[in-house]
Amino acid sequence: MPSRVDTDAVVIGAGPVGLFQVFQLGLLGLKSHLIDVLPEVGGQCVALYPDKPIYDVPGVPLCTGRELARLLLTQARPFLPLDVASGQCEQVHLGHLVSELQVEGDGCFVVRTDQGLQLRARSVFVAAGAGAFVPRTLNLPALEGAKNVHYHLDDTTIGALAGRHVVISGGGDEALGAALSLSALPDSVQPSELTLLHRRDQFQAEPELDAQVRHLLTSGRLKLVVGMPTDALVQDGRARSVTVLGADSVPRELTFDHLLVRQGMSPKLGPVSQWGMSLDRKQVSVSAATFESSTAGIYAVGDINTYPGKKRLLLCGFHEATLAAHAAAAALNPEAPQHLLYTTTSPLLHQRLGVLQGH
Ligand SMILES: Cc1cc2nc3c(=O)[nH]c(=O)nc-3n(C[C@H](O)[C@H](O)[C@H](O)COP(=O)(O)OP(=O)(O)OC[C@H]3O[C@@H](n4cnc5c(N)ncnc54)[C@H](O)[C@@H]3O)c2cc1C
Repeated sequence: MPSRVDTDAVVIGAGPVGLFQVFQLGLLGLKSHLIDVLPEVGGQCVALYPDKPIYDVPGVPLCTGRELARLLLTQARPFLPLDVASGQCEQVHLGHLVSELQVEGDGCFVVRTDQGLQLRARSVFVAAGAGAFVPRTLNLPALEGAKNVHYHLDDTTIGALAGRHVVISGGGDEALGAALSLSALPDSVQPSELTLLHRRDQFQAEPELDAQVRHLLTSGRLKLVVGMPTDALVQDGRARSVTVLGADSVPRELTFDHLLVRQGMSPKLGPVSQWGMSLDRKQVSVSAATFESSTAGIYAVGDINTYPGKKRLLLCGFHEATLAAHAAAAALNPEAPQHLLYTTTSPLLHQRLGVLQGH
């Protein structure tokens, strides 16, 4: 990854609105880079309600949060092409927290992430929702930076857990779902031992998931340890054990090879509040015509913005992304005529979408 990349637009936040923003910019001939701190796209839809039904997306009578994210990514794909060799898209930067956003002398913007990526863009679209989603931790400072403490169940993590004793912390959908997924892996890549650590012996998960995990517990394929983790032992950068205070007030050591913390996500506004845009109660104030913030060239769309009549709904975010893209295109190319083109009939849009005319 080059340390500095030039592009038309940077979209901060790969939630549903950020994904649709990339699509709308692409239709107008503008190339975007998309950044999110999460390891996958979808924002709240995937982080907070992946399997819950959504009924009010126009033209989509019913889909789950995860399905909507997948559909939006598929729709944006013509403008986020995959590299044939790597299978990755060089315009998508997941696992990056945008930490800095600066205006340069020539009116361009420099966006920096905590992973050392720098993007130079002519416009910026803040689609940051309620802020960057960060995993809830165990609140044990000793665990910070330990190599064998994981918060996401991605392919690399799953590979590292094979043949190991894994403790999963949490009692909600994320933790129970992880226990179920890991126990369903082929024998060759399954953890050797799985333990669920939760403060109570009651879970807060979907009834079906709850029942499946109870079955794992009774069959002995999963153990349950009930109590509060109060301390951790870390040696040579690896966590070895946590001290768990049981209901009987007796502290016990729980050792493991890997600790998978799955206690849900919480959004942190963090950096967004330091980028110089006018805020109104933690939301970015925007014009309801262009969705431009108080800084020219920075637009804010979706749950992060506020204006008279604002509703935090997917539909409203999609509308905002559309008007923001048109406003940015007009500002970036003031000489070009701004004709409204239809995807059904415009050969230019068909060419940009990479579809045969009329298909
Ligand atoms: C339980 C629940 C059910 C819902 N059901 C519906 C429904 O039925 N219909 C409906 O219309 N709406 C529904 N909503 C609301 C809808 O999900 C939101 O309006 C929508 O997700 C907003 O999309 P967004 O892209 O603006 O923000 P988000 O989905 O919050 O995505 C923002 C993304 O930006 C990332 N980000 C933020 N800051 C940074 C940073 N500094 N660096 C890197 N990444 C960053 C975050 O990690 C996140 O992934 C529901 C919400 C919830 C919680």
